[in-house]
Amino acid sequence: MKDIKYIFIDIDGVLYRGNHPIRGAREFIDYLIEQNIKFICVTNNSSKSPADYSRKLKNMNINIQENEIINSGVATVEFLKETYLKENYNLSAYVVGGDGLISLIQNAGIKIEEKNPDFVIVGWDIAFTYEKMKKASLAIQKGAIYMGTNPDLTYPSNEGILPGCGAILASITAASGVEPIIIGKPKTLIMEIATKRILAKKENSIMIGDRIDTDVLAGKNFGIQTALVLSGVVDTLEVSKSPIKPDYVFKDLMDLYINLKKSRKV
Ligand SMILES: [Mg+2]
Repeated sequence: MKDIKYIFIDIDGVLYRGNHPIRGAREFIDYLIEQNIKFICVTNNSSKSPADYSRKLKNMNINIQENEIINSGVATVEFLKETYLKENYNLSAYVVGGDGLISLIQNAGIKIEEKNPDFVIVGWDIAFTYEKMKKASLAIQKGAIYMGTNPDLTYPSNEGILPGCGAILASITAASGVEPIIIGKPKTLIMEIATKRILAKKENSIMIGDRIDTDVLAGKNFGIQTALVLSGVVDTLEVSKSPIKPDYVFKDLMDLYINLKKSRKV
C-alpha cells in the first residue's frame, strides 16, 4: 500500500459481523488515530444512523465517532444540500423509506408531500406497498426527480436473503420507465460526499471493503486504491472468478493493519 493518508472503510463484514468485532478492527482504528491518518466509514445501510453505528462500535471498543460515519441516507441528504437546496429553499419530496430517512430529509428543510413533489427519494422500506409504488411512479411520471439511497438488490438476514433497496427501486423503475439517480456504492456520489468530509486526496486514498461488487467497484469507479478483506461475504474463490480485481486482498483488518504498518516504516 502506497502513501496512504486517507482511508474509506465499509462497516459490516469489515469492522464487525453481527455483534462480533472482527480481528484487528480495534487495533487498526487505534493505529489510524495515533498516526493521524484520516478515515471515514462509508456504508450503504441507512437503517442505522451514524450515532447508532458509533454506539455499537464503541461497545466493541472500536473508537469511531458519529461524524466519522456516513450512510447512504446521510449522503443523499448532503448531496441534496450541495445541489438543489443551494438554489431553492422551497422543495418537497415523496419518501419511500424508514423513519430515519424521512426525518433526515425533513431536517434538511425539505417538505414531505405526496401529490406534486420535486423529488421521489427511495431507501430500504420494510413497509413498502403497491400504494407507495403507485404514488412514487405517478410523481416521477409528472417530473419529480427520482433518487435511490443505494442499489443493493438483497439484504442478508437470519430468515435468508431478503429484498433490499435495489429491489424496491427496480419495481418503481419498471412502473415509471425512469432510472433513479443512485447515491450509494458502487456509485461515486457517496464517495464524493465522504471525500469532502475528510478533505481526502484521491492519490493518497484507499477503499477497504468486504464486497467486490459494491466496495471494490466504488473505489475503482472513484479512482482510488482498493483493498478487499475476506472477513465478510467474499472468499478467495470468488476473488479469483471476479473480473473486478482489488489492488490488495487481506484475510481481515489485522492482516491489513500489519501490512500498512510495514509499508509506512520504509
Ligand atoms: Mg460490507
